[in-house]
Amino acid sequence: MSSNVRVRFAPSPTGKLHIGGARTAIYNWAFARAMGGTFILRIDDTDPTRSTEENTQVILRAMRWLGLDWDEGPEVGGDYGPYAQTERLDLYREAAERLLAEGKAYPCFCTPEQLEADRKAAQERKDPFQGYQRRCRDIDPAEARARMDAGEPYTLRIKVPEGRGDVVIDDAVHGKVVFDAKELDDFVIFRSDGTPTYNFATVVDDALMGITHVIRGDDHLSNTPRQVMVYEALGAPVPTFAHISMILGADGKKLSKRHGATSVEEYRDAGYLSDAFVNYLALLGWSLDGETTVIPRDVLAREFSLERISKNPATFDPKKLDWMNAEYINAMDDATFTDQIMLPQLEAAGISAVRAEHDDVWWNLLASIVRPRTKMPADAASVAAPVFATAATLAYDEKSVAKGLAKEGMGTILDAARVALGTLPADEWKAAAIDAALEPLPEALDAKKRIVFQAIRVAECGNMVSPPLGETMELIGRDDCLARIDRAREMAL
Ligand code: GLU
Repeated sequence: MSSNVRVRFAPSPTGKLHIGGARTAIYNWAFARAMGGTFILRIDDTDPTRSTEENTQVILRAMRWLGLDWDEGPEVGGDYGPYAQTERLDLYREAAERLLAEGKAYPCFCTPEQLEADRKAAQERKDPFQGYQRRCRDIDPAEARARMDAGEPYTLRIKVPEGRGDVVIDDAVHGKVVFDAKELDDFVIFRSDGTPTYNFATVVDDALMGITHVIRGDDHLSNTPRQVMVYEALGAPVPTFAHISMILGADGKKLSKRHGATSVEEYRDAGYLSDAFVNYLALLGWSLDGETTVIPRDVLAREFSLERISKNPATFDPKKLDWMNAEYINAMDDATFTDQIMLPQLEAAGISAVRAEHDDVWWNLLASIVRPRTKMPADAASVAAPVFATAATLAYDEKSVAKGLAKEGMGTILDAARVALGTLPADEWKAAAIDAALEPLPEALDAKKRIVFQAIRVAECGNMVSPPLGETMELIGRDDCLARIDRAREMAL
């Protein structure tokens, strides 16, 4: 399916890509995909003092990590480029020249002092209109041109048509929004230093790029009437707007640094999976059916719709994100979990684990017991660590030893376990056989089952929270399991 839907994500590279921006990007991407449309990435770098190339690179990297592929934009090109605003200055100038020539914009020679004085006066006389007082609106065009040519500083202002009336938009999220005509100002579209303002550059771009739907944060809702004025002046169709609600922290305040990590790459570095992160962010203000929570990106890309975006602010809940992450980890198959989570995490933890040293059956068994105990990727390394130790290097957790091993009677338990396990030949060293060999011990020793298995568990794994014992011991191997009991025997009483 393909359509003429064209949407854009237009970050300003004045900082990293944050949670709010990422969600806006996801919505634009998902909408484009669901509609068979085109997703455009544009870098809104017109603020030269705060935009940096480094931030642009960070944003592109974060977009790639999120898996939000763009059809047009930096690095991929497209027919409507360039895709960075600093490379489009000629287009803004051309558009402004045209509006000037058509009498839809005019130069304003007012000094900042003059503007300030006018503002004060309007305030004092309680003028319902507090904006620009249109001093230069009626200067004769020939005179204006002469003053411009003579080098007098000027800004360019849009000429809001006489009697334009209220601006009404039909926002896809908020419904009908009416902006009072009084708010319509002959606002500046070009500054005296020759740079375009955001409201102008954005609309010139959106119009030239054929953007059909503007999906963005509702902090831009207040800019919209001005932007509509620019579309109308340019004679370009006004796109559909969808202003999405803010994301709040648990305290009900706008999400910010105070609430913890806010940039996308901080989440990547903390070990969140891109798929889980995208799924979680997609649900901050959108729902599939009001109840489904696990929505893989292919479903999102098929089912996303503007109708199901909520008007209400969403709350970012790190616990729900953790839950989502664990869901995605748990849904992985053994091989994926081994290669994408376990091996990299073991390496990061400095634990030497070589894939080729064991066969797939061994790795799959390990994955099957480690995965359900992995909430965050790093958990995989700590859960699997005892399997990669040896009797000589295994780290014994002090508390576990005190509680489960260094106690009267534990020596007898280990001795009995050593005998029982010793009867199992190497080629029968399998979880079920190990469990079966150990099973009669509590009764034979007249000891509590929990106590017996705790002692063996601490002896084999060094702690009391390891995965199921039989499987773990199968993975460790017969000789080392017996050697571990011998070592632990010295700590037992
Ligand atoms: N560069 C603007 C921003 O980052 C884009 C706003 C818009 O989508 O129009 O807020």
